[in-house]
Amino acid sequence: MPTPPLAGGTTGPAALRPLLDTVLTALHDGAQQRHGPLPAGGPQTVTDHIHHATHPLIPDHGTGPHHALRTLITALTQGAADPAHPHCTAHLHTPPLALAAAADLAASALNPSMDSWDQAPAASTLETDTTTALAAEIYPHQPHPDALITTGGTEANQLALLLARERHGAIQTLTGANAHHSITRAAWLLGLPEPHTIPAPTGVMDLTALEEALTRLQSPHRALFVTATAGTTDTGQIDPLDDIADLCTTHGAELHIDAAYGGPLLFSPTHRTKIHGLDRAHSVTLDLHKLGWQPASAGILAVPDHHHLHPLHHHAPYLNAHDDTQAGLPDLLGRSLRTTRRPDALKIAVTLQALGRNGLADLIDHTINTAHQLADLITHNPTLDLYRPPTITTVLFRPTNVTDHTVATVRRTLLTTGQAVLGRAHADNRLWLKATLLNPHTTRHDLQTLLDLITHLTHTLQKGNPPR
Ligand SMILES: *Cc1c(COP(=O)(O)O)cnc(C)c1O
Repeated sequence: MPTPPLAGGTTGPAALRPLLDTVLTALHDGAQQRHGPLPAGGPQTVTDHIHHATHPLIPDHGTGPHHALRTLITALTQGAADPAHPHCTAHLHTPPLALAAAADLAASALNPSMDSWDQAPAASTLETDTTTALAAEIYPHQPHPDALITTGGTEANQLALLLARERHGAIQTLTGANAHHSITRAAWLLGLPEPHTIPAPTGVMDLTALEEALTRLQSPHRALFVTATAGTTDTGQIDPLDDIADLCTTHGAELHIDAAYGGPLLFSPTHRTKIHGLDRAHSVTLDLHKLGWQPASAGILAVPDHHHLHPLHHHAPYLNAHDDTQAGLPDLLGRSLRTTRRPDALKIAVTLQALGRNGLADLIDHTINTAHQLADLITHNPTLDLYRPPTITTVLFRPTNVTDHTVATVRRTLLTTGQAVLGRAHADNRLWLKATLLNPHTTRHDLQTLLDLITHLTHTLQKGNPPR
């Protein structure tokens, strides 16, 4: 076989073009063969199909680029849970915008690595400008806010706890029962005391319980660090950020806001009041691979002042030699705990520029509106119960008068038949179906057919007939 062509340089694009044609055809054909939001048949069927289609994974003699791309991408697409399908609504699993995926292709072809200037001269400037601009959206009143690109909310939350630990030593974290699991894991990873859990019986952090805990845990020996959530994983509710910030100020505690889901509401003049108080946090987590329609990954950790990031400074002579830095080569190593790092700022910058503030606000407003349409349809359906009206785009509901077991069975049956991908969440001591709407193309008709699938299946299960 001739030496395979490279993606970069002046010859790369010509080599890529026919390969992309094969890729795009495979994406189309695979989606057509799937027929729905995910493959029918459940885990064993999908596994068997993938094994069959891709065996042997490492042949002695290669099958060539077109065959391998066609085979693997068709099989992967056919077996995908496709967030672009309107009935794929389980998680904060976004359908990426075509333009962002296209930008990500350029990132792969150019392959800048964000750990040193000599691997990413222009990309490092674009990343700096993008993070500075996003930090200014989050902290509009600060002279020097800053932000890091992360792999997502999990890494951003870890960094937030790490920076707090570097400021104060072994902080005591106080976190809502509604908080994301990555907060507890970050405390574990960093060797911090186990977080103190503040109850959230209504889905948001209980202020009386927070005040009581802040009073009780106050100590001259240990700083208190509260983490609040703007857009919870289970219900999409938003903690009372301003009230929590007030309590933190009163008790000398620091505040981190995990706005992985809700943070992009900043861009919507209609909805940004819901996250008022965000800029009072010592750090903010935000994911653009949720309500920002980016392919994974596109996480942000923002801080009010760039000095807050100093603890991440790190020296490795081959990447940021002192004399290189003194001679003016930007020192990038302190921008992450990772070393080799993709230029995720590219797709983010392309999206921000292509859509503008208005375009992004329209997408957000429209998607929130879709969630309200779903809630309306549920309210008007006597066989379905709504948990409560959506705060962002998460809608919890369940068939009326059924057991949690039936709710769980409905969800799993739809998964294995490949008809719909719904999430599950516990609230008010019951199990609910969860629809997390992120697809701006979903229509009222799509929502109605989703509910029809659920009510029909529930009816079948209750009659004791095995689901087909
Ligand atoms: C999604 C999410 C996370 C985790 O983010 P990843 O990007 O999956 O690492 C953390 N917190 C909240 C509130 C989230 O919604």
